[in-house]
Amino acid sequence: MRSSRKHACIRGWTNTSKLFLIGLLLLAAGCQGDSSPNADRALPEPLPELPGRSKPERDKARLVRIDVYGAGAVDAAGARVVLLFEGAPLFHQQQLPAQGILPARVAIELEDAEWGDAVPVSQSIDRGGLKRVRLATPNPRVVLDLQPGASGRVFYLTDPYRIVVDVSAASRSRPKRRPLVVLDPGHGGHEPGAANEQHGLVESQVALDLAELTASRLRAIMPRARVMLTRATDVDLSLEERCALANAMEADAFVSIHLNASSEPVRKGGVTTFVLDTTNDRQALRLAARENGTRVAEVTGIQGLLAKHHRRSQAEGSLTLAGKIQRHTLKRGRSVLPKLSDRGVRRAMFYVLVGARMPSVLVEASFLTYEPEARALTRHNYRRALADGIASGVASYLLAR
Ligand SMILES: [Zn+2]
Repeated sequence: MRSSRKHACIRGWTNTSKLFLIGLLLLAAGCQGDSSPNADRALPEPLPELPGRSKPERDKARLVRIDVYGAGAVDAAGARVVLLFEGAPLFHQQQLPAQGILPARVAIELEDAEWGDAVPVSQSIDRGGLKRVRLATPNPRVVLDLQPGASGRVFYLTDPYRIVVDVSAASRSRPKRRPLVVLDPGHGGHEPGAANEQHGLVESQVALDLAELTASRLRAIMPRARVMLTRATDVDLSLEERCALANAMEADAFVSIHLNASSEPVRKGGVTTFVLDTTNDRQALRLAARENGTRVAEVTGIQGLLAKHHRRSQAEGSLTLAGKIQRHTLKRGRSVLPKLSDRGVRRAMFYVLVGARMPSVLVEASFLTYEPEARALTRHNYRRALADGIASGVASYLLAR
């Protein structure tokens, strides 16, 4: 797998004549990250531009929680560790090789930061490439002890500020297995998403219904496929947790399901399928900010950094998956609502897709704030049609691989 990723990167170099130096550097960093022999040497990372960095006086940031996701199963292929802060600390990351009795590790050294009493000093995990997460001094740091052959990638998200470490377990050869699709109904719990009060529509509920209908349709048309939902009830689920599950389970496709909305009146609604990428499209930036629970400025500022975690080989798969889902969803949706608009496959920086190691897309299946679509969404036959379309798109993608 490593050689094919490397190849994809190199192909990107030679075929794209107009890449600027920065693009080459990002690609090179991507190649190195994917093919380097894991954490066997310190990787110098430039400090990210952090919000508030230029302020001379700053309060100490406070680490309030450490969440570990995806390491539930004994054979998990990875784990995601999320450090949640009040305030935004500067940090350095180091990837350190095994030394004596110390295993290879990722260390996040924090500046001007402290931790709350509730943060455990040490948590034993022993799954998904991760042995343990522990706090260390003298400079406050969070250390991830890795299992042999595992590696880690570090990035940050904002609003609230969190540092995310994606750990990949040592790659192993697996017997050919049934394809796995992870469906992610957007929002839930305290985050209902968009709404249309007049029709009694709440995005989190409609998305869950669409995901359940998609799962049952997919199981019917592709009995070999395994289908999982990130949530089956109206519960809170962080954006980071959603794709952590798909990574840990080595899913073959990840589909986050949402409903679009606009604060301004819309003259046409429509279906859009998004892949993760940087964009200057103001509409896409606004939408990503809403879905990420952040401000447009944050999305714009963080794009460059997150692009580094974007793998070219995975991006191609995501575009193929997006194209099929878009086409099939439109076709089925139009069987109920003939004027359903095609907003196409687009790019945007959705946090929920960052770090996904499989083809992954986000579908905005219709507009809650466009009257004809809102009215149709109150009816089962329209939801059924959209779900059938998403399922057909996923099945068509899996079968063509
Ligand atoms: Zn949404």
